[in-house]
Amino acid sequence: MSDFCINQLSSGGIITNYYCSSNCRHCLYKCSPYWPKSYCNPNRAVQIYKTLYRAGCASVHIGGGEPFLNPDGLIEVLKCAKEHAFKIEYIETNSSWFNGSNENIKLLEEIRKLDVSRLLISMSPFHNEYVPFKKVKGLLSACTSCSISISGWLWDSFGDIDIFDDQVSHSLDEYEATFGDGYIYQLARKYNLKQGGRALNFFSSFERGMTIQSILSKNRGGCLELEDTSHFHIDLFGNYIPGLCAGLSIRMEDIGKVLSRQDYPVLTTLRNEGIGGLFDFVRDVYGFEPAKPVYLSKCDLCYEIRSFLINTEKILSPELRPYEHYYQN
Ligand code: SF4
Ligand code: SF4
Repeated sequence: MSDFCINQLSSGGIITNYYCSSNCRHCLYKCSPYWPKSYCNPNRAVQIYKTLYRAGCASVHIGGGEPFLNPDGLIEVLKCAKEHAFKIEYIETNSSWFNGSNENIKLLEEIRKLDVSRLLISMSPFHNEYVPFKKVKGLLSACTSCSISISGWLWDSFGDIDIFDDQVSHSLDEYEATFGDGYIYQLARKYNLKQGGRALNFFSSFERGMTIQSILSKNRGGCLELEDTSHFHIDLFGNYIPGLCAGLSIRMEDIGKVLSRQDYPVLTTLRNEGIGGLFDFVRDVYGFEPAKPVYLSKCDLCYEIRSFLINTEKILSPELRPYEHYYQN
């Protein structure tokens, strides 16, 4: 097997914070109001921009958690980007912070002055469980006034969401009752939601799963997903999250270096030998026994093994960060 090294970074984002006003059932990073209120500080932001530059990437988006929950922190991150000629492509938001106040409008004007010209507004029935739609509509309108363009995630759900009273949030059960049984699951499949983080629980209530033998025989190769840099993330703690494998991490300063088996036993095993290699390794070394008869996928099994290492074996490793991820529901 060739060396495992993250060299060139293509396209990605900075996770400024993991805490969020929402607790969406599909959230890959398990963001919620229950995380510590830590936010990316200016020094860290500059380190991240410099690291990304070195890896051939001169622009990123900002995401979370909900980045707008700390307006001052967000402005500092944007100022640092401007000072270092680093482009911020867009900021992701769920609109929960927006109430139409003068302060809100000033904040939008300030980020526009800092060269951010686009927001990506997340809207879906999953988000609508926590965010009343009037907030989304209000932010859409305010962005137009402030010359900020908008792109959306799951925007073809707009018509379905707009059927309900927009002053309050609505549960997924309400959507099922209105649009029929299976509506939410079909939506999740239609949008190809990643089965990781909290979404594993969501999908587990709909799909039967496979035995471990079946998963291992279907996934014999290494996890080359870990090398994908087309939608990477770096978080406020300096963790580079490989692929979309939430809960796995590479220290930011190790980008561009060959990862050693000694420092990154879990990641190098997954990359070289795949889930079968990790399963054998953790069973042989730590006595791991699967808790369930079936799993949704190799990623579901991978997640349980990693949770076992953190929660049962109390292993504190730079490749299993942030630890809080494993403590969240
Ligand atoms: S999906 Fe977005 S809005 Fe929902 S909990 Fe995660 S970060 Fe928050
Ligand atoms: S099995 Fe683990 S490393 Fe492989 S793609 Fe899934 S989450 Fe990522």
